[in-house]
Amino acid sequence: MECKADALVLRTADYGESDRMLTLFTLQQGKLSAAAKGVRKAAAKLRFAAQPFCFAEYVLAKRGERCTVIGATLTDGFYPLREDISKFYAAAALVGVLDAVLPEGVVNEELFLRAVNALGQMCEGSEEETLISFLLKVLELSGYMLTFERCADCGGELSGRIWFDMQSGCFYCGECARGAGASPSTLNVLRKCAGLAFDASLVGKDGYVRALKLLSAYFFEKTETRVKALQEYIVLAAS
Ligand SMILES: [Zn+2]
Repeated sequence: MECKADALVLRTADYGESDRMLTLFTLQQGKLSAAAKGVRKAAAKLRFAAQPFCFAEYVLAKRGERCTVIGATLTDGFYPLREDISKFYAAAALVGVLDAVLPEGVVNEELFLRAVNALGQMCEGSEEETLISFLLKVLELSGYMLTFERCADCGGELSGRIWFDMQSGCFYCGECARGAGASPSTLNVLRKCAGLAFDASLVGKDGYVRALKLLSAYFFEKTETRVKALQEYIVLAAS
């Protein structure tokens, strides 16, 4: 049986002499694995379709449980992401996080469209801001929404000494102090990336790195999954 699916490549694994197994996030069927035969040969017609974060319309042949890529039409290769090491790792972190949260075969149109938009935004603008916004959305859609508008306990303003609790995913004021101390720069970067009001004087490179570290630790706390590319991107962003 043949079918078409709009899909984003989340992961690739080489096998055989020139083949590659793809983990695809499809709009129509959710996450699935598909074999791409001969795509590592220099002249292979479908070489482009077996690259990380390629977005294309795939033609898939299904036989029983097995799925093979037999054709593809490129929608967007997000080429600028391949020419900048920071952007490349940020994009790899994004698809790595998606791969970690998506169960096989479950359709999630919202996440698919957000992922494709985020990769496009990373090509044009700030990859760290886009990645943080995307992580916040993924956490929210997975039921692990962070709360950082006001103190989760007393409802007071979050200023001065603030705290973040990994268990609840909430920030607390100095009076209610729960979890571990957090920096105002982390909080303001998260607010900025979530589209909330923020203090621009507290948003800098250091804040982005801190916010990413907090989100990575929180993601691990909730999913017990470490996304290697996310950790690599944090190291890169901090240097
Ligand atoms: Zn409080």
